[in-house]
Amino acid sequence: MTINEKTFWLDTVEIPIPVARDFPQRVDVAVIGAGFTGLSAARPLARGGASVAVFDAQTIGWGASSRNGGMVLTGLKLPAATLIARYGKEATARMYAASLASIDFVEKLVREENIACDFARSGHLEVACKPKHFDDFRRSAEETVLHFNHRQRLIPKDQLQSEIGSAIYHGGLVDDSSAGVNPARLVAGLASAAERAGAAIFEHSHVDEVQREGARGWKIATQRGTLRAQNVVVATSGYTSRVTPALQKKIIPIGSYIIVTEVLPEKLAAELSPRNRMIYDSKNYLYYYRLTPDRRMLFGGRAAFFPETSSTIRRSAEILRSGMLTVYPQLRDAKIEYVWGGTLDFAFDIMPHAGQLDGLHFSLGYAGHGVAMSTYLGDKVAQSILQSRNDDAGRAKNGQVKNSRPDENPFAQIPFPSAPLGLYNGRPWFLPAAGLWYKLLDWLT
Ligand SMILES: Cc1cc2nc3c(=O)[nH]c(=O)nc-3n(C[C@H](O)[C@H](O)[C@H](O)COP(=O)(O)OP(=O)(O)OC[C@H]3O[C@@H](n4cnc5c(N)ncnc54)[C@H](O)[C@@H]3O)c2cc1C
Repeated sequence: MTINEKTFWLDTVEIPIPVARDFPQRVDVAVIGAGFTGLSAARPLARGGASVAVFDAQTIGWGASSRNGGMVLTGLKLPAATLIARYGKEATARMYAASLASIDFVEKLVREENIACDFARSGHLEVACKPKHFDDFRRSAEETVLHFNHRQRLIPKDQLQSEIGSAIYHGGLVDDSSAGVNPARLVAGLASAAERAGAAIFEHSHVDEVQREGARGWKIATQRGTLRAQNVVVATSGYTSRVTPALQKKIIPIGSYIIVTEVLPEKLAAELSPRNRMIYDSKNYLYYYRLTPDRRMLFGGRAAFFPETSSTIRRSAEILRSGMLTVYPQLRDAKIEYVWGGTLDFAFDIMPHAGQLDGLHFSLGYAGHGVAMSTYLGDKVAQSILQSRNDDAGRAKNGQVKNSRPDENPFAQIPFPSAPLGLYNGRPWFLPAAGLWYKLLDWLT
């Protein structure tokens, strides 16, 4: 079969070419990375009166932001009980509330900026690969209502055909608050919105070095020249590198891969996913899948643990197709038209983190749950920079700081761990072992 080794979503949109501008000598805020996080930070910063330059080593949305499944999901990666044991009820409730607020945030942003990106609250469906996993769903749904006042619906096995045209699962859990989106159109729209607000975007501008200069500024060397910035936002997600070594040591880059079929007949598409849900299964080494707005099956998974190369992408096409056929034998004759890979960013505690490290602002660690969260936290990071600028201005004017804090960002308040025993320098040597470990866990649990 001949398959396009490219992102399907990029065939549905023209990514805007940034307005040509002179390379700045100095800006208030330099943002590294033009994905959801960076662009969502740039927009409010520019609107708030800061001069902003966004640098991407490649092009707008080149990273995970145009390569993902477009699932705009509620919740965090870890189960409620694990989170509560780790952070306590109150902090966990705030983080869970942020996950719900992040979807409202994307919805509002799409409306306000008039971004045609097929955002739709079609809900998500998690499917149980084993009977025990359905029992876990029941517990999880109870905890979610109890602790977070958020309702999800259990779908027993004998009613599952109303949700999915597959006979292999043991029940499901539906959350109607989740949504679907075309991520490439979203990131393109976000870039245009950031530019309209006054931010400058520089593509093909790899940031080579970020150096502290004096008490309150930074010197930034890029492929295109050097500039000074008062603040730096690191928005590099799974592509975080030696340029920001302290963050690189806290983030594990993990590959995820997607195939997309040809356009399916209407009747077949309706049989596969009658309610057009964002679907994922209950394994550690999970599959996630959905229909695209033009009725193709998009099917993704961690077919190889390592970040994408030509050979992992080609191998993944075979692995994912055979995975897809175990779920949907009906797709036996459907042509695969696209395959691609992208890199996810996992923190060692599998939590998102957004705040400041050694004076650098950052937001990352989305663990495959980043479409809504990165957009939301990019904005939160921007709000905290704007607040300190206002505080500084108040101090300079009359020695006073106004007592209004920006909306709280609960992820700034949790510890951001490094590798146990410091056994990691940014090269994920343990991924093959971790991949085997997760496969073993899926077999055992
Ligand atoms: C295959 C796949 C499927 C996914 N599916 C989903 C999903 O369905 N739902 C969900 O919620 N999440 C999903 N995710 C995760 C989600 O896409 C990410 O969490 C989100 O896009 C992160 O956005 P970001 O802006 O932080 O990073 P990115 O979009 O990755 O952008 C980082 C940018 O930084 C740039 N960069 C890096 N270093 C430098 C440097 N030194 N100088 C200049 N630029 C630099 C890169 O070029 C890149 O463009 C998926 C991810 C992948 C890979």
